[in-house]
Amino acid sequence: MIEINNLTYQYQVDAAKVLDNVSLSFKSGDWVSIIGHNGSGKSTLVKIMMGILEDYEGEILINGNKLTKENIANYREKFAIVFQNPDNQFVGATVEDDVAFGLENQGVAREEMVEKTEAALTAVNMLSYRRHAPARLSGGQKQRVAIAGALAMAPDVLILDEATSMLDPEGRKDILNILEDIHRERQTTLIYITHDLSEIEKSDYAVIMKDGEVLNRGSIEHIFSDTDTLIKSRLVLPYQMQISRALLKGEYVTHGELVEK
Ligand code: ADP
Repeated sequence: MIEINNLTYQYQVDAAKVLDNVSLSFKSGDWVSIIGHNGSGKSTLVKIMMGILEDYEGEILINGNKLTKENIANYREKFAIVFQNPDNQFVGATVEDDVAFGLENQGVAREEMVEKTEAALTAVNMLSYRRHAPARLSGGQKQRVAIAGALAMAPDVLILDEATSMLDPEGRKDILNILEDIHRERQTTLIYITHDLSEIEKSDYAVIMKDGEVLNRGSIEHIFSDTDTLIKSRLVLPYQMQISRALLKGEYVTHGELVEK
């Protein structure tokens, strides 16, 4: 269980608040999507949760224990985060070295390390690139490798911060299917950050953020049904959903616009 209570953050003392009194809670094993346009504060929120940013107001509790500078290292071992730009995260000379890096740090035995690395690369469909240099891959392939690195660690909490942004729609679907599997099989808590509503359908729960505040939260049905908040947060319903809603309401769609019957 992760509880975020009244979190407020600003990058500089006299700058605007990037997070303003944000309170949220995630149950262990939940798949939570955090949605919002650029600048909503989504990355800042998860960077605080990972201990990358400090000196915030408010508190974060993990299973009832307050996160502090002293104890954050214990939690960080169980958390993995994948950021949007994979170039900032590569450490290995080859794809397989990179994916194995975290396991090596944990002192995992060689045989097990190879097994876990291969399994993670197979999951993201990148095993045939194992001996390639990460820097020479395409943006989408780099994102797959970065995700494999996180999967190999089998974290309790996996955070993906726009981590599929360079993949095409099919590639994103592949990753969402992998997440669905690990969510089911390992009960991994997933925090999936995106600005694309079509990517949240598999999650249990979603949070809409705008300008450092939580505008809405709840089940996917609830998020999709509160049209006013979607408009306010400049989020657009997936096209297929627009069509099915229009049909249900007795409207029909022509050239992408809804037309009253
Ligand atoms: P999101 O992930 O939703 O795009 P961010 O958390 O990255 O939002 O950014 C929230 C706000 O904080 C933005 O206005 C952004 O410009 C600002 N910000 C982000 N990183 C920094 C930084 N290192 N220094 C100053 N301002 C920052």
